[in-house]
Amino acid sequence: MTELSNTKPQRKAVALISGGLDSLLAARVVQEQGVHVEGINFYTGFCVEGHTHAIRKKDKEKQKRNNALWSAEQLGIKLHIIDISEEYKDIVYNPKHGYGANLNPCLDCKIYMVNQAQAWADENGFDFIITGEVIGQRPKSQRKETMPIIARESGAEDRLLRPLCAQNLMPTLPEREGWVQREELLGFTGRSRKPQFELAKKFGFEDFAQPAGGCCFLTDANYSKKLADLWEARGEKHYELDDIMLLKVGRHIRPKPNFKIIVSREEGENNFLRGYRKEFTTIHTVSHGGPLTLVEGTFDKEDLKLAAQIVARYSGGKGADKVTVEVDNFEGSSFVMDVKPMAAHDVLDEWHI
Ligand code: SF4
Repeated sequence: MTELSNTKPQRKAVALISGGLDSLLAARVVQEQGVHVEGINFYTGFCVEGHTHAIRKKDKEKQKRNNALWSAEQLGIKLHIIDISEEYKDIVYNPKHGYGANLNPCLDCKIYMVNQAQAWADENGFDFIITGEVIGQRPKSQRKETMPIIARESGAEDRLLRPLCAQNLMPTLPEREGWVQREELLGFTGRSRKPQFELAKKFGFEDFAQPAGGCCFLTDANYSKKLADLWEARGEKHYELDDIMLLKVGRHIRPKPNFKIIVSREEGENNFLRGYRKEFTTIHTVSHGGPLTLVEGTFDKEDLKLAAQIVARYSGGKGADKVTVEVDNFEGSSFVMDVKPMAAHDVLDEWHI
């Protein structure tokens, strides 16, 4: 007689891994219950994790790492990085649930990411989805009322498990089916991070990332202001990946509605902007050391003179009577001109985006 095995099949969960502490803990809580966990990290173009981390020279001393990959390594799980930057544009242009404090469409973003994770789970034979959400953690997207909206509108319904606050929510399918034990999940609420820090300590996680505002640049007020300015200048909500990369770099100054300049602040940014020389008209100082500058928009020679005066203001010749600059890639040619550096006055401050 053959002996019947009563070993239950191991359940599989896919965890949304942002690189922050909450998603790391949520995945570990479920792993602890014997579930096979893999991670997904979505690349939107606005991620703080992107390569622009490494641009500024002043940050060079800090060790660079991709926090999502680091989290996966800590958990010992496979991480699937999925590029959604093209489809994501519609969410940024037209969020059904509106923006947060800045141009961050957090609720729509969450719904979309859970929806994509659900599709991935279906395709790959995974049973449920894990997120690191905590009720009351973020004013817009992580409230008790938004939890069912995300579950419903993403289509994940009760296959969406939030291990860090599950005890404050209705039991989900993995709990009802006994794939995970509800009593071993948590009941965190509110903005305090103390329970998370204690849990991290219990699991032995150290040196985890703690992004201040959120997992992407759209929560940053200065960044959002530059994106809003870009849309206003173009007369429509539109961007390409290069546009949103450039918003992370340099001083952005708009002296007139028809054009703006991007002035590098230091060597790392200079090198980064150099990569855009073929696509933009550029200005650099010849007589003195100075920053590389990209000119963006539609402009004529008079506009370029004004731009050059501003560039000279940020060069080693800012106190000189004249500074020589070279303009490249303007209507197919290059030329040199002498300009008087712009004096620091209020107008220049107002032009800063
Ligand atoms: S912070 Fe950015 S990535 Fe995170 S939920 Fe909000 S919009 Fe999405």
